[in-house]
Amino acid sequence: MKKAPIFYNCRKCPAYCCSYPRIIVTEADIARLAKHHGIGIEKARKKYTKPGHEEGERVLRHKGDEHYGTVCRFLNRKTRACTVYEGRPEACREFPGPGRCGYYDFLCFERNAQEDPDFISTTWNA
Ligand code: SF4
Ligand code: SF4
Repeated sequence: MKKAPIFYNCRKCPAYCCSYPRIIVTEADIARLAKHHGIGIEKARKKYTKPGHEEGERVLRHKGDEHYGTVCRFLNRKTRACTVYEGRPEACREFPGPGRCGYYDFLCFERNAQEDPDFISTTWNA
């Protein structure tokens, strides 16, 4: 089957999606993160996740970020890359879905409109 074209490039984006406050992690995600770090599941649950808004929900913990306020604790604030790529949760693997990313469309529009290819740079200082 022919692959659908992709109109975004995460390497040219400062990882806006990693600033979402509600990145839900499942039990399988926690187990994967634990294995990735070589620690126990309960330790990983406490260290990497916190309660979400819904009953029983767990979401990724955040840390401060000078540009988006806060970002996922696993984002490298300098390179804007995921530091646990092989162990990242399912939600991160699936996002943004087929074809397009709304934020990347916005970035391209603004970089073009402002004639500044570095508008919202991807190489900030941590
Ligand atoms: S916001 Fe879109 S383009 Fe940027 S890192 Fe996330 S999925 Fe990739
Ligand atoms: S686990 Fe990685 S891809 Fe997922 S939100 Fe955190 S930094 Fe982004």
